[in-house]
Amino acid sequence: MAYAEQYIDKLRKSGLRPTKQRIKICEVLFDTDKTFHFTIKELVKIIENQANIKVSLATVYNTVHAFIKKGYLKEIPLNASQSYYDTNVTHHHHFFDEEENRLIDIHQDDVDEVNIKKTIPGKKIKSIEVIAKIVSDNQSQK
Ligand SMILES: [Zn+2]
Repeated sequence: MAYAEQYIDKLRKSGLRPTKQRIKICEVLFDTDKTFHFTIKELVKIIENQANIKVSLATVYNTVHAFIKKGYLKEIPLNASQSYYDTNVTHHHHFFDEEENRLIDIHQDDVDEVNIKKTIPGKKIKSIEVIAKIVSDNQSQK
């Protein structure tokens, strides 16, 4: 099956009409060996550079959020001035570089089990995602 057909399928399953713009969004998001993190603004830039077409912020935003609902993308629960998204939908953790505003994956095996002592009555922990904020270590730059 051609990539385009897969993307049309993904879009339809997400309740979106497969327009030319949206198929381009899919190409950027899913036609790559490497997963990546992005903000909506960054994604618009990548699409415009790579596909040489104009897409509106609203179209990209709506498409990304429809994909999140379907589990094709993940939103990173990060308290930053803008939202960050991930094409890697497997369970994993992150470094967030506060100086470069950049997320870096941490494999699940590289984090020991997190021990949370507090419990909420009637609730259990479903999953834990760690975000370690990082800054330059001036000590080691001699
Ligand atoms: Zn990630």
